[in-house]
Amino acid sequence: MQNQQLPPVFRFAPSPNGHLHLGHAYSALLNEKMANEAKGHLLLRLENVDRQRSRLEFEAAILSDLDWLGIRFEHKPRRQSDHFDLYQHALESLLQRGLAYGSGISRSEIAALAASDPAWPRDPDGALLAPETERQTQQTTGNYAFRLNMAAALELCSNTIYWNEAGTKVQFDASQWGDVVLKTRDGSFAYHLAVVLDDAAQNVSHIVRGRDLYAATAIHRVLQTVLSLPEPTYHHHDLILDVGGEKLAKSRHSTTLQSLREGGMTPVVLRRQLGFSA
Ligand code: GLU
Repeated sequence: MQNQQLPPVFRFAPSPNGHLHLGHAYSALLNEKMANEAKGHLLLRLENVDRQRSRLEFEAAILSDLDWLGIRFEHKPRRQSDHFDLYQHALESLLQRGLAYGSGISRSEIAALAASDPAWPRDPDGALLAPETERQTQQTTGNYAFRLNMAAALELCSNTIYWNEAGTKVQFDASQWGDVVLKTRDGSFAYHLAVVLDDAAQNVSHIVRGRDLYAATAIHRVLQTVLSLPEPTYHHHDLILDVGGEKLAKSRHSTTLQSLREGGMTPVVLRRQLGFSA
């Protein structure tokens, strides 16, 4: 439980694998507003844990866009690439406790298995689950990833996952996620492992982010419980959609802050358009 005496801590945590778009601006501004209203702290974290997709040029562009928007963060940003030791240490503790295991199966091998079974389970994001037999294999040589043993972890959570969603206690069946990857075959730590460790290390008490991460919060609550990390409160906001009702993608240039800036947009107008006072 959080110490209610301390001022709340909010954070904005973009991944530097593309330019910020309107959806990110909304999320950052909402964090700023809620932190101000609660007289709390606002932190920035660059989630560059994905070695394949993170780029320094995107980090620089994110900092420039946030500065242009006029959002001021306390402290310099935390970069996940500076904290691989923390993630490795937590992974080893999970391995020692039988809560994680080495798994050699690739995504294409899972897809091949699932091709003959239309009822093959998928996670809440639509990805095919690894077969549970992977747990018995416990691969330790060759090319393999590390997965969470969700069944063993959920037992430690009394098989029930709850969190505080904007003041309401919500429940989610975390087993739907299956044995999520904690460290990939190419040696990148997964977002799910890094995010819970970073939020705890930065004393984040209030997580305000897009609704696309609502279901993933169940994985985060499992990891927080088995790693004895504090429980933050969550607020998953609606996503800003494009005119066709689709989620904004980093690949789509038209709504990036860079292109809006180049087109003459000002931060005052953008803040107003997104429903915030300038
Ligand atoms: N890095 C994630 C993203 O850019 C956000 C993670 C989070 O807020 O927990 O989508």
